[in-house]
Amino acid sequence: MSLLKGSCLCGEVAIEVPDEFEYMGNCHCSQCRKFTGSDYSSVGGISSLKVSFPKGEEYISTYSKSDETELAFCKCCGSSLFSRKISGGKHNIRLGILDSAPAHKPSFHIYVDSKAPWFDIRDDLKQFKNAPVK
Ligand SMILES: [Zn+2]
Ligand SMILES: [Zn+2]
Repeated sequence: MSLLKGSCLCGEVAIEVPDEFEYMGNCHCSQCRKFTGSDYSSVGGISSLKVSFPKGEEYISTYSKSDETELAFCKCCGSSLFSRKISGGKHNIRLGILDSAPAHKPSFHIYVDSKAPWFDIRDDLKQFKNAPVK
């Protein structure tokens, strides 16, 4: 199993995860849009136990979005890095920080009911109005 490397814009934070995301998808919720500043956020979900930081863990700052979800960013450059599901024990890694290519691609869209009005989904991936039933 290969190892995927990722980093923030300034390069202080380095992240490594095995190339074994349990799911990969695009989230169109308004909170992801605000946090990332993008039309939507592509993430890959993986067990928190498999995420490591070869460098710069001390540069990671977090914002508690809710009791269950923490959003992480680099305190030096502001890059959005991942969201952490606390009781679920999962990291949703923002795919935009990856420097290497994962074996798979996002396979669904969630929260399409809150998508940016200027953005049209032009692919055939499965769409969920809100969160998919897990
Ligand atoms: Zn940074
Ligand atoms: Zn979202």
